[in-house]
Amino acid sequence: MALIELDKVTKTYYIGKDLPVQALRSVSLKIEPGEFVAIMGPSGSGKSTLLAILGLLDKAESGRYDLLGKNVIGLSDNEYAVLRSRYLGFIFQTFNLLPRFNVLENALLPFLYTEATPHDQQRVTDILRKIGLGDRLKHRSNEISGGQQQRVAIARALANSPQVIFADEPTGNLDSKSALEIIGLLKELNAQGTTIVMVTHERDLAEEASRIITLKDGVIVTDERKRTLPAAAIKEAARQKRKASISVASLFNYAHEAFLSLLANKLRSLLSILGVLIGVAAVIAMLAIGTGAKKSVEQTMASMGSNLLMVSASYRQQGISLGSSSSPTRFTFDDLAALKKIENVSRVSPNVSGRVQVVAQNKNWNTSVMGTTPDFQSVRNSIPDRGRFFTEEEVTSRAKVAVIGKTVATELFGDSDPIGQSVRVNRISFTVIGVLPEKGSSGFQNSDDRIVVPITTAMYRLLGEDYIRSFDVQVDDPDAIAAVQAAIIPVIGKLHRMTDAQLENVEVRNMAEMQKALTDVVNTFTTLLGAIAAVSLLVGGIGIMNIMLVLVMERTHEIGLRKALGAENRDIMIQFLVESVLICVLGGVLGILIGSLIAWIAASVFGWNALVSFSSIMLAFAFSVLVGMIFGIWPAWRAAKLLPIEALRYE
Ligand code: ADP
Repeated sequence: MALIELDKVTKTYYIGKDLPVQALRSVSLKIEPGEFVAIMGPSGSGKSTLLAILGLLDKAESGRYDLLGKNVIGLSDNEYAVLRSRYLGFIFQTFNLLPRFNVLENALLPFLYTEATPHDQQRVTDILRKIGLGDRLKHRSNEISGGQQQRVAIARALANSPQVIFADEPTGNLDSKSALEIIGLLKELNAQGTTIVMVTHERDLAEEASRIITLKDGVIVTDERKRTLPAAAIKEAARQKRKASISVASLFNYAHEAFLSLLANKLRSLLSILGVLIGVAAVIAMLAIGTGAKKSVEQTMASMGSNLLMVSASYRQQGISLGSSSSPTRFTFDDLAALKKIENVSRVSPNVSGRVQVVAQNKNWNTSVMGTTPDFQSVRNSIPDRGRFFTEEEVTSRAKVAVIGKTVATELFGDSDPIGQSVRVNRISFTVIGVLPEKGSSGFQNSDDRIVVPITTAMYRLLGEDYIRSFDVQVDDPDAIAAVQAAIIPVIGKLHRMTDAQLENVEVRNMAEMQKALTDVVNTFTTLLGAIAAVSLLVGGIGIMNIMLVLVMERTHEIGLRKALGAENRDIMIQFLVESVLICVLGGVLGILIGSLIAWIAASVFGWNALVSFSSIMLAFAFSVLVGMIFGIWPAWRAAKLLPIEALRYE
């Protein structure tokens, strides 16, 4: 059985759409095991094309090609890859070593795609030693001479113990001394039984072969055997097993390679990582701030107490005419008494408020004052932490007592106990009798930054007002809220003898509704922030795609080489995917750190309630991996589908 048998093989290239170039015209050829064939001919005669087809790097257009007795025309890309890694070895004019790897790693490259025993690895190391590279194993390929590089390439071609070695102008880039050494090496290999097919245009090198085939215009014109063949048999094929494309070891290997490739292009890697970083950081920070805002709304609402209605007078304008704006309704203590009488109303607390300057010893603090009655404690869930609230008697007597919020207590008294201390509120001396429970800040408003005094004291001593601003009405039964809400307006209308138009100024708001409205707003706000952040992540992803496309282009040659060494399409695809995922994971991790930092700064500097949740971290991380996959897939697929010969020819 012949090792290789071509029958009427043709190959046509098309320049543009309709300019055919017949590179091979009906070439028939038989190569026996153990031959050393030199293919010669003028430039453009089809030598490289023939070699590429023989080496399964390119596909013939028509004809028959039997390799080891089996027709290979019509096999798939992956079947070609398997055949290449099992039976064929390649040596190129430009050596094609990977600059990121050292000599030994380059020679072991085929084992990325086939299972190798330690014995196989030792064999390759021994070959390197035998061809004089024993002391160069750890050198990078750019640290050794051209002749040495080509020897590494020969060792690499031998790694899988191939049946045939295809060499395309293997000495084309070498000085004559190195060239002779390389030819000597090939002859030695041939003597040991490896079949060699070599393209060369140098007659004296071709003379070293056992058979010279000359091509011209895609046709074999001469075929001379110079020596009778030693009776070589087809070697027992080394039955390398294919490596699984996706295994922990191979992914780890690709990640390592990807890492080296990122290191090789630091600035570019940094920029693409930055793209993802910004996106992920934005997602984390936005979600943290959004979740925090929601939390504080909920907290504020809970601290307000439940089943609440708020009665206030709005300053809404009536009609179109600007002149006819009506003055606000001035609530009185009669309103308070009347509201309390409505069925199902359990408590009513009246409110007035204003800004005041509070002084204690030498500390000065500007805060808001609120005047109310003891019902406030129940209505607003505000029973003092320390000390006590004021009593009805103190309201009646306009007592100068104050219950202060946590923030005020800290600002004025630091760590010392404020109870019983004297403070001056707008120059009037008050005694602190209690400290309000902590309510936390809700976005822009800090509920702990206030002092609460009897309503009469606030109205007549501090603010100089003789009316009540608003009421908080507590309803004893949640189901009665609507009924109470409906009853309030008529009661007030009757007391004040108001017209229907004036009554429109009185507003009764349901806290549960407000809570829902506010939560809706916060949810919308969070979604919006998240969407903006996602857009920036998308932009980062497009950046990655861009970089990966450049990377694929730059490494087209390498892709060709890897395919020649037996990489299947999915091996190439996974390699590039791993690389883009690695970029995204790095960007993702850094983004999570920086996003958390932003949230932390927002919390500690601006006092916002920002919450980085575990789920948002997982989400951002998953998102960045996904971005890497999605935006890496197209470039990776482009890389994978290249024909090996196209990739190798790519300049
Ligand atoms: P040689 O190796 O003998 O110099 P080639 O096999 O490279 O010759 O090329 C044979 C013919 O095919 C030449 O005319 C060349 O221009 C043409 N050719 C080779 N590759 C391509 C290609 N990818 N696209 C178009 N024409 C090609």
